[in-house]
Amino acid sequence: MLQEYPNTQLFLNGEWRDSLSKETLEIINPATEEIIGKLAHARKDDLDIALNAADTAFKDWKNVSAYDRSKILRKAAEIIRSRVGLIAGLMTLEQGKPLAEAKGETLGAADSIDWYAEEGRRAYGRIIPARAQGVYQFVFKEPVGVVAAFTPWNFPLNQVVKKVAAAFAAGCTVIIKGPEETPASVAELIKAFNEAGMPKGSINLVFGIPAEISEYLISHPIVRKVTFTGSTAVGKQLASLAGTHMKRATMELGGHSPAIVCADADVNVAVKILSANKFRNAGQVCISPTRFLVHESVYDQFVEGFVKSAESLNVGNGLDEGINMGPLAHDRRLTAIEGFVADAVEKGAKILTGGKRKGNKGYFFEPTVMTDVSKDSRIMNEEPFGPLAPINSFSSIDEVVEEANRLNYGLAAYAYTNSAKTAQHLGAAIESGQVSINHHGLGLVDTPFGGVKDSGYGSEGGPEGLDAYMTTKLVSQTGL
Ligand code: NAD
Repeated sequence: MLQEYPNTQLFLNGEWRDSLSKETLEIINPATEEIIGKLAHARKDDLDIALNAADTAFKDWKNVSAYDRSKILRKAAEIIRSRVGLIAGLMTLEQGKPLAEAKGETLGAADSIDWYAEEGRRAYGRIIPARAQGVYQFVFKEPVGVVAAFTPWNFPLNQVVKKVAAAFAAGCTVIIKGPEETPASVAELIKAFNEAGMPKGSINLVFGIPAEISEYLISHPIVRKVTFTGSTAVGKQLASLAGTHMKRATMELGGHSPAIVCADADVNVAVKILSANKFRNAGQVCISPTRFLVHESVYDQFVEGFVKSAESLNVGNGLDEGINMGPLAHDRRLTAIEGFVADAVEKGAKILTGGKRKGNKGYFFEPTVMTDVSKDSRIMNEEPFGPLAPINSFSSIDEVVEEANRLNYGLAAYAYTNSAKTAQHLGAAIESGQVSINHHGLGLVDTPFGGVKDSGYGSEGGPEGLDAYMTTKLVSQTGL
């Protein structure tokens, strides 16, 4: 083992502490199934401490200048960079992804903080010309208030940082309900913010029973903004609760990304980029390419290349040298993925490679490629969130656009074509929050990221991600 795995406490009002009830949850290494640590489990009285702390801290933090907030955020980014080995090691132990991916995510988190440190200084309002002389109409951007953020386990740092860095840059304070499966790397992120000088109470970290915590925080009057990343089913529940209590909300939910390969595409490039992104993080990525739709004239070439690429992957413990794909993050995923495969096969799919659990220790699943997948099989309709690649063929652009838009998801879509006209058509016709053509260009902090339809609403990343934590106020005055 690279390092000891620590127990994780709650961070409440500037202090690391056990929950008042002393309850804990166990953390399991998905590569070995060993219990590696414990996690403090918050109940309502712990949440009350977090709520009051965030409320008190907001009164000061909102008045700190954007310039000074920026300095603290930049320092946090530096601390994270200086601890990349430690943080990435913890992430691989608790989440399973290969160490190189965990390092990339850690450095990416530091970059995201730097970006929002700067963007917070550009939260411009405006002056609107008035209808009468002597009237001045000012538009101000103000921080929305205390934020409740709910983040999942697939990118333990990235999912938190896009919310927290933007919220802090805007002048908000935060209570994070972190992922119970992967708490230690998140705790390192919070430590970095704290050591960089975030005021006491401005950042609070809790874990526990997700539904219990979300119900309490979202309905609490102190919380003014809700932000959630996770499944569509849970997102709908949280969005409706936020609506009942008239809270601003950002919902980053599930996806089912079509990946279209046209007759005129560079098939080798498509295979290389799409297979790398299919199996990244064992497919547990909301923008993972999911429905592969390949023109019949290049279908055999694409399938052959994709199978070769899947078979070349080294699946194993993410801490070992040369591993390209780790285990699934927890046992629920293993059961779910086995269910998707069994259902597809029952409905006529052919498994060209993979299709089953790898070994019997650790939640490993083979990179899987299947063809002839019936449109009514579960994998063609529900988010699989695992290393499964169903590949079907199409014969016309109209047909493939109809298939791409068939589902109620609309998070990401991919297309490969050498025709500028087809690229333009697909970019316009596909109903999706983002479309990436001839490369994988999504999820950078500089650009907005968000879904349409059942994939949610609101954006993270880009100026839109900052705006999500700000309200707009008009002050109209005379007498200057
Ligand atoms: P899950 O639905 O039980 O949990 C998904 C995430 O939501 C977890 O982080 C969980 O803690 C949180 N959650 C669940 N119920 C909640 C509630 N009532 N209030 C607040 N948070 C709640 O599923 P899972 O088995 O952990 O993950 C599987 C599914 O989750 C996947 O199929 C995928 O659709 C979705 N997921 C999506 C993302 C993403 O990046 N969009 C990330 C992780 C999981």
